[in-house]
Amino acid sequence: MERTLSILKPDVTRRNLTGAVNQRIESSNLRIIAQKRLHLTLEQAQRFYAVHQERSFFNDLCTFMSSGPVVVQILEGDNAVNHYRDVMGATNPANADEGTIRRDFAESIEANSVHGSDSLDNAVKEIAFFFSEMEIVG
Ligand code: GDP
Repeated sequence: MERTLSILKPDVTRRNLTGAVNQRIESSNLRIIAQKRLHLTLEQAQRFYAVHQERSFFNDLCTFMSSGPVVVQILEGDNAVNHYRDVMGATNPANADEGTIRRDFAESIEANSVHGSDSLDNAVKEIAFFFSEMEIVG
């Protein structure tokens, strides 16, 4: 059993697709064991994505992630980190497999609907960034 950090990005909340994306998550055998809706400041988005600060799209990404509400979640399940990456699909929705969240919902490579931790180590760090122990009910 693993846990991973998921974010439904501002393009999802703007289009009122939180429930639709959550249905995809739950029907893929991942449990949403913690969830909250937040509007990140630019500074919070920059801190969350600090590992990407050298990348050309860092400023655009942080501006987008603070442009509207997000829903942050902890997902639990077998092999949750890699399994959720499969359920999400490729970063660029044009390259995402059929049936993935990004293929079906993403607007662009930037507004690509969902974030999922890319390793177990990062999942632990990203979960701690957003959630306290009291908020996690397994
Ligand atoms: P992920 O792990 O699949 O989310 O992809 P990355 O870690 O490579 O990138 C983080 C996020 O940055 C992506 O989910 C996109 O929202 C955004 N992103 C990635 N590549 C690009 C790009 O070429 N241009 C822009 N504007 N955003 C990008």
